[in-house]
Amino acid sequence: TSFTSPPLDPLLVENIELSKFTKPTPVQKYSVPIVNAGRDLMACAQTGSGKTGGFLFPVLSQSFISGPAPIPEETNVFSRRRAYPTALVLAPTRELVLQIYEEARKFAYRSWMKPSVVYGGSDINQQIRTLQRGCDLLVATPGRLNDLLERGKISLSNIKFLVLDEADRMLDMGFEPQIRHIVQECDMPGVEERQTLMFSATFPRDIQMLAKDFLKNYLFLVV
Ligand code: AMP
Repeated sequence: TSFTSPPLDPLLVENIELSKFTKPTPVQKYSVPIVNAGRDLMACAQTGSGKTGGFLFPVLSQSFISGPAPIPEETNVFSRRRAYPTALVLAPTRELVLQIYEEARKFAYRSWMKPSVVYGGSDINQQIRTLQRGCDLLVATPGRLNDLLERGKISLSNIKFLVLDEADRMLDMGFEPQIRHIVQECDMPGVEERQTLMFSATFPRDIQMLAKDFLKNYLFLVV
C-alpha cells in the first residue's frame, strides 16, 4: 500500500513523501476512498493512529483538484476583508490546532491552499491580520472562531469540508453550543454543498447525537 492507492493528488503525494511518511496508517487508507466518493464520515480513531492525515489527506487532495472557489460578491464594503476558507477543522485545544496547522502547512506546500490557525488566549487582532492575508484551510478552536464570526472577520459561506477532530473532547470541554452555531453558519441558505468528517476516540450517546445532526448518510469507520 502506498499513498497513490487509493489515489491522491500528485502534488499532495510529493508533499507526503517529503515528510518521510512511507505508507498510510489504516485510518488514512480507509478515509481517502470514503471522502473521495463524496461521503460523510464518522471515524473512531485514537491519537497516534495518524488521524490528522486521515482528514488532511482527502480534504487537501480533493481541494487541490477542485481549485479555489470564487469569493462571493458582497455589497458591504467591510465584508471584502473577510476570510473565506473552503475547509474548516475544529479541534479542542491550542496545542492540537497548532499541531494540525503544522501538518497542514507541510502537506499544502506549493499548492493554492493557504492554511491558517486561530485559537483562544492569544491576541485576536494579530490573528485577524493574518486571516486577511488569505486563508483557505482554517484550523480553529470553537470559542475563538465564534468570536471572529461575530466580528464579521470570517465567512463560512464557501466551506466545502468541515472536520470535527476529537469531537468527544470538544463536548467534554463544553463547546457544544459554539460547535452548533458554527455548523449553522455552514448551513446558511445559498452555501456550498459540504462534506462533514467527524473524528472521536469514543462514541458515546452525545457524539451519536452530533453525528445524527451534522452528518448526512455517513459511513462509520473504526480503526
Ligand atoms: P496523529 O494520530 O495524527 O496525531 O499522528 C501521530 C503521529 O504519527 C504524528 O507524529 C504523525 O506525524 C505520525 N504519522 C501520521 N501518519 C503517518 C504515516 N503514514 N507514516 C508515518 N508517520 C505518520
